[in-house]
Amino acid sequence: MSKRFSFSLHATDGQARTGVIDTPRGQIRTPAFMPVGTAATVKAMLPESVRQTGADILLGNTYHLMLRPGAERVERLGGLHRFMNWDRPILTDSGGFQVMSLAGLRKLTEEGVTFASHIDGSKHHLTPERSMEIQRMLGSDIVMAFDECPALPATEEEVAKSMRLSMRWAQRSRDAFGDRPGHALFGIMQGGVTRDLREESAQALQQIGFDGYAVGGLAVGEGQEAMFGVLDYAPGFLPEDKPRYLMGVGKPDDIVGAVQRGIDMMDCVLPSRSGRTGQAWTHRGQVNIKNARHADDPRPLDENCSCPACTGYSRAYLHHVFRSQEMISGMLLTWHNLHYYQELMAGLRDAIAEGRLDAFVADFHAKRAEGDIEPV
Ligand SMILES: [Zn+2]
Repeated sequence: MSKRFSFSLHATDGQARTGVIDTPRGQIRTPAFMPVGTAATVKAMLPESVRQTGADILLGNTYHLMLRPGAERVERLGGLHRFMNWDRPILTDSGGFQVMSLAGLRKLTEEGVTFASHIDGSKHHLTPERSMEIQRMLGSDIVMAFDECPALPATEEEVAKSMRLSMRWAQRSRDAFGDRPGHALFGIMQGGVTRDLREESAQALQQIGFDGYAVGGLAVGEGQEAMFGVLDYAPGFLPEDKPRYLMGVGKPDDIVGAVQRGIDMMDCVLPSRSGRTGQAWTHRGQVNIKNARHADDPRPLDENCSCPACTGYSRAYLHHVFRSQEMISGMLLTWHNLHYYQELMAGLRDAIAEGRLDAFVADFHAKRAEGDIEPV
């Protein structure tokens, strides 16, 4: 295994790419989907089960972990990998986005952001330097630069001002990160839906120099059409030989569209969160297991799926345990959803490698258009 962080591109098909990120903690096959382990756990899943679904890397949230249990405590206990019993790569976000979306009483200055914890109201300060320190204490393999994501709706002028602040913070993040062999620092492109601002941001980041580049400020309610509109050009502003990460995306069709546009990595709470609310993602679209139509259905959720929920249980059972609020409901549906997402990524990787992505995507949409199986 490599002692360094590196990215090698193996094949392209149109704008889509497949390759491998090498890290001292293992390889990440791209395009990669990262399950979200917000509070040092992918909810309802054991780490070995997450691995069994095919995940090469998890995402951890700096904002949540700094508040509870605290980065210093995680470091004393041997780092996040040891703490949560996951020995493969972990990417941590910078905390910036969740300060904006979750915390109360925020005060933003050139220096950083002061905010009140959503848990107990305690006051905290987050700067590029502090975010780098927290992510180092957690032991993150891929560290994200500290950025600001403007609250929507925002004028173009506000987006530009925020983007330029994020670029100054990107430089401070780079300086504070220092030289840490085997660990990577990713910069985050901002600029909203304005092409010129995206290009300016991409150039500023490349002047600083990062190990990978994220497209930030999307999946914040702008809709798929606007997001794809940005992805039609934004990845082209980034270097070809570094990984490109689209933050917070998404639904299966968002993922397919993003991969077609040259994205290598994604993360989203959707497969795990929706598993706990009775929503399943299958080859034939979304299934709501709490619907009464499943109560007498002896068939599996998805007959083409090899996950434990589909090989061992009927729709009738999954419906029953959801309605009875049994814990196994969230466990089985989360496992299925994560399995489905990873199988989709594997299918995309193979299709790109074999130059048949268009046919794969056409089949993906055709199966979804059929809709869920008819009730018995
Ligand atoms: Zn399944």
